Amino acid sequence: IKKELIKAEKFNVVSQLAASVAHEIRNPMTTVRGFMQLLQGEGLSNEQKTFIKISIQELDRAQEVINQYLSLAKPQTEEYEEFSLTDAMNESVEVMSAYAVMNSIEIKKDIEEGLMGKGLKLEIQQVFINILKNAIEAVKENGEITAAAAGDKDGQVVITIKDNGAGMPPEQLKVLGSPYYSTKEKGTGLGLTVCYQIVKRMKGEIHVQSKLGKGTTFTITLPGTGGQVR
Ligand code: ADP
Ligand code: MG
Repeated sequence: IKKELIKAEKFNVVSQLAASVAHEIRNPMTTVRGFMQLLQGEGLSNEQKTFIKISIQELDRAQEVINQYLSLAKPQTEEYEEFSLTDAMNESVEVMSAYAVMNSIEIKKDIEEGLMGKGLKLEIQQVFINILKNAIEAVKENGEITAAAAGDKDGQVVITIKDNGAGMPPEQLKVLGSPYYSTKEKGTGLGLTVCYQIVKRMKGEIHVQSKLGKGTTFTITLPGTGGQVR
């Protein structure tokens, strides 16, 4: 236990340092991205256009790493409040639909009306978006992704995000959520770390079922708000 505590502390210090550096880096990066975009419009050669496109993509990737870092290190100052989980989930699917369409995938929804949660809506949306993004990246052609949410008899809300993608072997499932663990060439390995941290703070749980070559189901259970027992 002691070892784990020290590890947690170290990770905290590192994240806090990273967060302050990240803040300083974000603004100049936004400026550079803006100018890159302005350049795009001019009469350029195809090669030049490609260089600019790649530059913007790489800036976005760096931005993603920074954003994930920031949410790991962010001290929790905002008060938890009741919010519509139904809206949070519908909006998250909406946000990721464009990315899904780019990959010829449709995200199916089976989301109950009137589900409420307690926490920060933006945080749980980050969880949904990260998991949906992974699902989209895991499926190939004929990919199917289903996002479902329903209240259970104990007043909890059960959310499942299911894909028929690459799946994971058991040894990979064990290390899921460790910082920097990624099998992707351009992955950050921070997406799920952030998800686990946020859901833990909300006193919820994440369970993952996966079968290599068959697909993966993420199940998130969140405590309800008491007023929504079904
Ligand atoms: P990243 O997406 O940047 O790699 P994540 O923390 O989001 O980092 O995910 C960590 C790893 O977990 C991924 O690289 C991938 O190997 C695995 N993974 C996550 N979700 C899925 C999924 N739906 N299907 C298959 N593998 C997954
Ligand atoms: Mg990811």
